[in-house]
Amino acid sequence: MGRFAPSPTGPLHFGSLLAAAASYLQARRHRGRWLVRIEDIDPPREQPGATERILEALDRYGFEWDGPVIYQSRSLSAHEAALSRLMAAGYGYRCGCSRSDLADAPRGPLGIIYPGTCRAGCQAGETAIRVRTDDSDVAFVDALQGPQRQQLESESGDFVIWRRDGLVAYHLAVVVDDFEQGVTEIVRGIDLMDSTCRQIWLQRLLGYPTPDYLHIPVAAHADGQKLSKLTGAQAVPLGRPERFLVQVLRALGQHPPAGLGNASLQEIWSWAIEHWHIQALAGRTRIGFDSNAMAEGKNGLL
Ligand code: GLU
Repeated sequence: MGRFAPSPTGPLHFGSLLAAAASYLQARRHRGRWLVRIEDIDPPREQPGATERILEALDRYGFEWDGPVIYQSRSLSAHEAALSRLMAAGYGYRCGCSRSDLADAPRGPLGIIYPGTCRAGCQAGETAIRVRTDDSDVAFVDALQGPQRQQLESESGDFVIWRRDGLVAYHLAVVVDDFEQGVTEIVRGIDLMDSTCRQIWLQRLLGYPTPDYLHIPVAAHADGQKLSKLTGAQAVPLGRPERFLVQVLRALGQHPPAGLGNASLQEIWSWAIEHWHIQALAGRTRIGFDSNAMAEGKNGLL
């Protein structure tokens, strides 16, 4: 069982379409189910109308998801139950440290390494909740990027699972929902690979099985910058999705036959499912592309 789990912070762009297509093809190639889950748990970052635009784009591109669209904000009781279990087992603790309190904390590749200030107790009124980590190896073998490992205590420190503003944090929500929804394989952009060991840590503490992971390269502009809302990623074109979909397949290392862009979406997806093999992307972290050329239906892959 696979899933595509966009946050409604903007429309679907080429990078998110790559993740959607790769997770869809991986699930369908193995005759698995595929879910769409809107990760609407961070209202301050959301863009009005983004959910509708994302779903419309997925529909126009011919994705067929199983069951109704899932809204992460409706799983709050499951998130709270997981938090209570972590607290009861002594893994979670309140942390009143503000950003300025942590200004001098050491920094590692994952950002601030929390120095454990509140581990022994915290008197602050408003608090976040952190989960305890230690320095045992957390490791997994990514299906595309190979073996990965982290020692969380020294690389990230105890991390936030419930935010100070009262909202569930991404790592806890994603772990609980993937478990509750029976997701067994997670296909997403390599920009999230750094999060995986923290998520595996939570799976261990909660007694959940760890799904398989496959992190695909992220789409990047010609200058190498990752495509995102911040770097001006445009929404995928909704007219003539067939042509653009074939470009997406090329970007994912597939070799669609000439003329497939003139076939129907259904024919393109059947071809793609039948021929899907991801190994061409092994070890790659970036897929360069020129959005203007792509939007005009030209080959924009760099
Ligand atoms: N909602 C996250 C995002 O859009 C993705 C979560 C995931 O795939 O684990 O970046």
